[in-house]
Amino acid sequence: MNMDSLEVIKENIRRIALINAILHDGKAQSKPVIGKLLSEKPELRSLVREIVGLVNEIVREVNEIPLEEQIHIVREKWPEALEKQMGKSKKKLEEKVLPPLPNVEKYERVVTRFAPNPDCVLHLGSARAIILSHEYARMYQGRFILRFEDTDPRLKRSSLHFMDLIRSDLEWLGCHPDEEYIQSDRIEIYYEYAEKLLEDGYAYICTCPPEEFRRRILAKEPCPCRSLKPEDNLRRWEAMLSWRYAEGEAVMRIKTDLNHPNPAIRDWPAFRIIDTKKNPHPRVGSKYCVWPLYNFACGVDDHLMGVTHIIRGKEHLTNQERQKYMYRYFGWRYPEAIHYGRLKIEGASLSKSKILRGVREGIYEGWDDPRLATFLSLRRRGIKPEAIRRLILEIGPRPADITISWENLYAHNRKIVDPIANRYFFVWDPVKLTVKNVGREFVVQVPLHPDYPDRGKRVFHIKPINNEASLLISGQDAIMLKPGVIIRLMELFNVKIEAVDKAQVLSIFHSEAYSEARKMKARLIHWIPEGSGLPCEVIMPDNSRTIGLVEASLKNASSDEIVQFERFGFVRIEKTGEKFVTVFAHK
Ligand SMILES: [Zn+2]
Repeated sequence: MNMDSLEVIKENIRRIALINAILHDGKAQSKPVIGKLLSEKPELRSLVREIVGLVNEIVREVNEIPLEEQIHIVREKWPEALEKQMGKSKKKLEEKVLPPLPNVEKYERVVTRFAPNPDCVLHLGSARAIILSHEYARMYQGRFILRFEDTDPRLKRSSLHFMDLIRSDLEWLGCHPDEEYIQSDRIEIYYEYAEKLLEDGYAYICTCPPEEFRRRILAKEPCPCRSLKPEDNLRRWEAMLSWRYAEGEAVMRIKTDLNHPNPAIRDWPAFRIIDTKKNPHPRVGSKYCVWPLYNFACGVDDHLMGVTHIIRGKEHLTNQERQKYMYRYFGWRYPEAIHYGRLKIEGASLSKSKILRGVREGIYEGWDDPRLATFLSLRRRGIKPEAIRRLILEIGPRPADITISWENLYAHNRKIVDPIANRYFFVWDPVKLTVKNVGREFVVQVPLHPDYPDRGKRVFHIKPINNEASLLISGQDAIMLKPGVIIRLMELFNVKIEAVDKAQVLSIFHSEAYSEARKMKARLIHWIPEGSGLPCEVIMPDNSRTIGLVEASLKNASSDEIVQFERFGFVRIEKTGEKFVTVFAHK
């Protein structure tokens, strides 16, 4: 191999490895890569020993690149390879990859932003804006901005606590912002731009009573303030800034088309008075009484922060139309805007005001109440951020409204937690099961996870007294039992039911082999030895509690761990110790 051809070979390996990785969730394997390389370049067969080392090295490198970036590289460098070689897998690929952003080539680099009002915690409804904005920034090696829009100290009061919660939600989701801004730090910047518009006659200070203004604007008529000269407007502006107007007495409006078919666009308000002596702002107190409204602050910031692509819900289309007037007056180019449809989650309340009210009135126990679809609640329940990410990438930025079910999210989460969650027996509403004719002691060893035997074993000792073994089973199983029925106690032995009453179930040893149980189509039931369990409470999604006993080996698990209670579901351990508290994730 001379040096030149070595580079060529490396590039070929890289291409094959990347495609192999894309087809396998971002992780390439050396063997198929070598196979593919040798079939493309049979002349390399004589060098197979050297090639193996090279492939291993490149595969390792490739596997460190996130999947979206792998796709991006291949799409850029070998678009035809992606088309041709992926063939049947193309659909699979399309599902994983986001559609390209429009007009990326017009910009030096892609900049996206997520701009919440820190007046509440974040919920699943924000996942799309966050994850898509972050993902696109990463896909194009751009920047992702977090911007707190806290300019309504009266009705949408922000708090420093919510800011911290939002920051930690973003970190949890893996969407670390490259830059962070807080609008209440930038009030004087907005004033500067407001003054420019007033000077140029593109805005005016309206002091009409709101009712009066509304009547005129609906009739497509200007109010008297609209024809004021810039110097008069600037004088009124000064008066606003020096607290000479009370709330509602003066508004700065941006001139638009008075004949615009949508009255909400006509001369929209950009600044208003908020009496911060009555309602101090949590960060800047009573320093300002003139506050920008959403469209002004957001529009100015998107431009000044170099945002190139705004990814947001289509309910913002009207806002875009409002802001475009301002962009035209300043001679700015409006960023690319991608508007996705509404995302509904069956049975989840994604209303901020309901969440705020519910927590305030004590209907919910806190921001992480399992009935809420807040990230805090999902996190508490053991939903992995990667599951949310996969769900959102699957939906992408499509403009159509979409309703997903919790089961969609659970299916993604199950795939992630199933291999990591160790398994345990949890008997809820326990009922005693007595087994007669147990002729010897049993020591049962069950792997913590059947696919990963090296994780260790759970051990149960069954010591019959006078040939009688005492176990506990779930009340739900107990009520299904009838005399004469044969059941298999999982991993232990088969018993025949003799009598069932409220307090206990009596049975007699039948046989030991699992094959016997299978032959008889016996139902499999989990159990724990009586006297050995740890008290355990499971907080259910409706905030009810399921109480029971979990096998003693759970004491080695740690809090925050996600485990599977067999035949019950996945739970996240919230509290260990004398009594375990867990939170239910899903089946
Ligand atoms: Zn007016």
